[in-house]
This record gives sequence, C-alpha cells and structure tokens, in this order.
Amino acid sequence: MTIDIPNPTEHNQWYPFANRPLPPDVEGRTVNPAVIPVFDAVRLPPSARFVVVGAGVHGLSSAYHLAMYLERTGKGSGSDVVLIDKQGPGAGATGLACGCIRNLYMTGPLHAILRASVEVWESDPVNFGFQQVGYVSVGESNQTDDYLKLQASQAASGYPSDVYTGTEAHAFLTNLWPDFKTENCDVVLHEHRSGYAGTHMAVWGLDQKCRQWGVQRVYGATVTGYTLDASGSVTAVETDQGSISCEQVVVGAGAWTPEHWEWLGGPSHLDVVYPDGHVAEQMDMWTYWRLLEGEVMLPEGVDFRTAQHRDSPVLHVELMNTPVYSEDGRFLKDHFYSYVRYAAERVGAPGLQGGTIPVKIGPRAAVEPYGHLNDQYQAEEWFADYYCATLGMLFKRLENLRPFFKERRNGGIGAFTPDNVPVFDYLGDNAWVIADSNHGFKMIGVGKLTAQMMVHGDKPDELKPFTLDRYRTGATFGDRNSNCPWV
Ligand SMILES: Cc1cc2nc3c(=O)[nH]c(=O)nc-3n(C[C@H](O)[C@H](O)[C@H](O)COP(=O)(O)OP(=O)(O)OC[C@H]3O[C@@H](n4cnc5c(N)ncnc54)[C@H](O)[C@@H]3O)c2cc1C
Repeated sequence: MTIDIPNPTEHNQWYPFANRPLPPDVEGRTVNPAVIPVFDAVRLPPSARFVVVGAGVHGLSSAYHLAMYLERTGKGSGSDVVLIDKQGPGAGATGLACGCIRNLYMTGPLHAILRASVEVWESDPVNFGFQQVGYVSVGESNQTDDYLKLQASQAASGYPSDVYTGTEAHAFLTNLWPDFKTENCDVVLHEHRSGYAGTHMAVWGLDQKCRQWGVQRVYGATVTGYTLDASGSVTAVETDQGSISCEQVVVGAGAWTPEHWEWLGGPSHLDVVYPDGHVAEQMDMWTYWRLLEGEVMLPEGVDFRTAQHRDSPVLHVELMNTPVYSEDGRFLKDHFYSYVRYAAERVGAPGLQGGTIPVKIGPRAAVEPYGHLNDQYQAEEWFADYYCATLGMLFKRLENLRPFFKERRNGGIGAFTPDNVPVFDYLGDNAWVIADSNHGFKMIGVGKLTAQMMVHGDKPDELKPFTLDRYRTGATFGDRNSNCPWV
C-alpha cells in the first residue's frame, strides 16, 4: 500500500525504504531481495579456507574482518574468504531491523559484546550509518535496583552510562524534552555510546568493505547442507550451485539458523540447567518469535529533536504497572512497553520507528518468505493503536498520531535460544555458529571477535560466556526483570 508522504522540509533526499514495492515472484515464489545494489559478485569457487554462510550483519562482519586480518597479518588474503547468501546482503533480519544499538541488558556478559560492537560502529560511522545519539531507558521504581546493577556492569566493561532516579530522573527527561510526561517514570538509564544505524547503510557499508578487502562474494547460491567427516567436521558446504570444500565455516543464518543447526548435527532439544540448580527438561533449542514494529510519520510542525536541537537519543520505556489506553479511551494492555527512534531513512519522510514486546510463535515457523513478505507475521491492527497511544502518553507533541501511522508491512521473525541470549560456539571442530537469538543487529563486533579468534588462534574473552555448554553446566542466563525476552 502506498500513501502520500509529507515532506515538510522539502529536502531532496533519497529515502531507500520509501514505499518500496514488494518484489516480484521468481518462478512462482516470493523471495527476499537483497536490500542494496550488488556489484562484483562471483560464481561459487570449488574450495576456500573460510566459507561464511549468510550475508546478514554477522556473516558480512565476519567476512570483512577475516579478510582484513588475513591481509594485515600476512597469513592469507581476502580471497581466502567466500561469503555465500541465497539472496544477497541484508535479505534477512539485518535488512529490516529497527537498527537500535544499546547496551540495556541484564545479562552482564553482553555488555562487553556491545562495547566491542560499538567500537566497530564507531570505526566508520558514515559508511555504517551509525548515529551516536545515545540511548535513554526509562522504568518504574521496581527497576531501580536492576538499572543500578546494570550501570555498574556497563562501567566495568568500559561502557559509561548514568542512572537518575526520582526528581533527578524527571529533570533529566524534561531537560531533553520539555514536553515529556514524567508521570510513573521513576528511573532513567542514559547510555552515552549507544544510538542507532540505518540498516541499509550498514549493509551497504559492510558489503563494500568485504568487496574492498577481496572477499569472494557469492550471492544467489543456496546452501543445501554440509558434508561432515566421521568426526563431525565440515569438509564441504553443499549448495544448489555445487560443492565448496573448506577448512572453516562461519554460519550467520539468522532466522534460518535452526535448519543449519540440524544439518550440522546440533541438538533439537536439551536439558537446561540454571545457576540455582533447577533444570528445565528437554527444552526446544529454538523458539520463534515475531516482532511487532511500525513507523509513524511526523506531521508538519512536529519534530523529534531535543531541546538542545539535537537528534533525540533512542528512547526505551518499560512501565510494568502502567496500563495503556487508546487515544479514544479503550483499554489496550495492562503494561507499557515501547521504543522509538528517529527514522527518516526508514519511514521515507520525517518520522519515527519503534515497537513493543514480540509475540512467541513456537518451535516451528514459516521462515520463507521472510519478513515483510510473509502474510502470517505482520503486526495486527491493535499494534498501531497501542504504539501510537504509547507515544502520546510520553510526549505532548506526539499525541493523536494514529492517523500518521504508516500502513504498510513491517516486522519479521527470529529464532531465539532457550535463555534468549546468543550462542556463539562451534558445532564439531570447525563450524562456528553465530546465533544471536534475534537481537543482534547491534552486535556487529561479533564478526570482528570471530575473525580475531580464527586468525590469531585464541578465543577472545568477550565470546567465552556464550557457549552451548552453558545449558549443561548450569551457567544458563536468565537474570531479567522485564516483560520482554531480550533484556
Ligand atoms: C523486525 C526486527 C527488528 C529488529 N530490530 C533490532 C534492533 O533494533 N536492534 C538489534 O540489535 N537487533 C534487532 N533485530 C534483530 C537483528 O535484526 C538480528 O538479530 C540480526 O540482524 C541477525 O543477523 P544475522 O546475520 O544473524 O541474520 P540475517 O540478517 O537474517 O541474515 C541471514 C542471511 O542468511 C541467508 N541464508 C539463510 N539460509 C541460507 C542458506 N541455506 N543458503 C544461503 N544463504 C542463507 C539469508 O538469505 C540471510 O541473508 C530485529 C529483528 C527483527 C526481525
């Protein structure tokens, strides 16, 4: 569906997402397109030292950093790395993520992953489309202890943030946004180094870096399985365009991870042991959730800038005891959960993008066609009412925006792990799986850490807590106080 887009600034800007039509079917099937133009892709070679499967954020980042480190250390060259995607860069979640980059995690070890990731975002903010506007998270008093604990852990990982409570929290918020309604907002966390990135820019930047460092990028080849030797090591990656033998594999397959996991011999169910000793028996390894997201255009005269005339920090608000009513007074939910960022490149006009808590699907889902193309997993009507109501509850200027909700397809699905925290680990001794549990657009640094490990030999400390073995040894994560699975 297309609607007229207001353009109050009358800027002649090119908005890559503006009313993008759905792609045509290919041989009767709807397919997920690459989200950027592709140059210099090659045919599948018969062998390579490193095969990277999936050109989402993790595959692209791994391939780029592998190529760069091989060249720089004289241990090889970019052409030792083959990157394969069945469609092209950004065809999965990476191309349609909200692009929020934050460190708001109750799972302490993720703070170091995010520090390493923000270093990558900061390394080339222009080509990655990184806007380092900060991240402001707001809660009720029942989250104060969590925020203080989280701030201490962030500080220990080299990620500075501030916590404000009570009247200080209110003053912080109204200093940024004089029309902010501080009722029920008891605690604020402000992360300085966080922000957001335009997903198409990030994909473009990463793909260009792969190209510049000489990665052999094979787009349009579908991996159909892996050939394993008797010890379970991958000797070749099988595709619909032939077989490629290899020494090491990196899998960054996003929502398709369960399929690759099965091919590589990973378990479908497992007993999950928690630090307090209790065991959840035979849990599904993968559970799909669908994300509820949307976009709202800003009417003429309304902006989302701060009182200091800056692009606003990304804002995340969870008020567990505050109900949400629609702007015409209907009860919608007994709790408030909303995030929002400025998103002109996504909306195709001055506008906002954000969402709320995802919805659990279960252990199986129709992954194809993916994302916006899949009729089954689009946000329902209530979401637009809810999302616009939350914006109006927070800001005077954002009241009554429901008519400006952009009626188009949105959202996507992801495969979550048993504790909703990433698994970064080997299956066998040479298939490294980056399974980010569907909140890892921000985790661009995992590819860098992966490449360091593969080129230099030692596993970086940041990656160590995220083994599959944690479920067996009782180091399962799960320390969270939120209605949402990804804190
Ligand atoms: C709606 C939505 C909003 C999100 N918002 C945020 C956010 O704001 N911040 C954040 O940090 N995270 C966010 N996420 C999560 C984030 O987008 C994902 O965790 C991340 O992009 C996953 O990256 P990936 O590289 O693992 O997978 P993907 O980006 O899904 O890439 C996987 C690639 O593998 C390819 N592939 C799969 N199988 C095969 C095969 N057999 N052969 C060849 N190629 C194959 C696919 O074509 C695809 O291109 C969001 C996710 C969704 C769905």
